[in-house]
Amino acid sequence: MQPFEFSRRALIAGTGALAGAITLDLPAGFARAQAQGAPVNQAPGFYRYKIGDITLTAINDGFGRRPLEGFVRNAELADVKKAMEQAFLPADALNITFTTLAIESGGKLTLIDTGNGDSGAPTSGTWMKNFTAAGFDPKNVSTVVFSHFHGDHINGFRLKDGTAVFPNAEVMVPAAEWAFWMDDAKMNAAPDAMKGAFGGVRRVFGPIAKDVKQFEGGKEILPGITAIAAPGHTPGHTVFALASGTGRMMVMSDTTNHPALFVRNPDWSAVFDMDGPQAAATRRKLLDMVSADRMQVAFYHAPFPATGHIAKAGNGFELVPVQWTPAI
Ligand SMILES: [Zn+2]
Repeated sequence: MQPFEFSRRALIAGTGALAGAITLDLPAGFARAQAQGAPVNQAPGFYRYKIGDITLTAINDGFGRRPLEGFVRNAELADVKKAMEQAFLPADALNITFTTLAIESGGKLTLIDTGNGDSGAPTSGTWMKNFTAAGFDPKNVSTVVFSHFHGDHINGFRLKDGTAVFPNAEVMVPAAEWAFWMDDAKMNAAPDAMKGAFGGVRRVFGPIAKDVKQFEGGKEILPGITAIAAPGHTPGHTVFALASGTGRMMVMSDTTNHPALFVRNPDWSAVFDMDGPQAAATRRKLLDMVSADRMQVAFYHAPFPATGHIAKAGNGFELVPVQWTPAI
């Protein structure tokens, strides 16, 4: 390859030629993956950090792409595009990332949510590869805790062919979430667009329904993990306060979708929020709390590794990501 002439003109004019030159130097599989729009391999998508004696590992499950139009229920598209531009993100579509947490504490391995499994967008489904790259084995998962029952959080628990991915895990779910999604009357009354979500919940949990352990908000459900009811996104949507020694963290689950939109504008509601006003009230309350307490947070749909702190900014907030560290 010719040495690249570093000038702005070359950067603008030469983009096509440069891309072509790079592709020629790549292994065939890489070029093929790019052509199909599949995710290109980075380093494995896991990231470890500590809260007191608890070791957390963020496990990435790729992303799903979503047009911006119609994504925020109660804001003008022009304002949503402006928020994207202010965050240096493309103003046409949003890449919604998925990041679950593995929690090592007291010799036990607990998961909060499980990703898309083999049911998500072609750009998702990288969870197991990243989980095993982090040194974990699905057989050693002792507990799986679910924040809520949307497909991107539960489908990784059971493959489409019925295979249970974590054969030795106890399963813990919010009681309010179970009551809603497992209610046949609610399923029958739901609009057609929502019937698939009810079916998905039954596919994942049906075979183990009698063994599922339900929990209420306000209770310590495992040592150092307290469930807090955070309804609105779904009826039983739950966040989790982690505590170990002086360490504290709030696992915010889907309290917000992408922070550039909904941490910045907490009164906006994503199309996935089942009760928009309730979700917004919950969001503001939790963001107020974690910013006042300077508490570390983790979000399911924040840019990887999806953890940081919340600072007040104007009428909203902003997520300040953690600084990457090579050793914990
Ligand atoms: Zn979600």
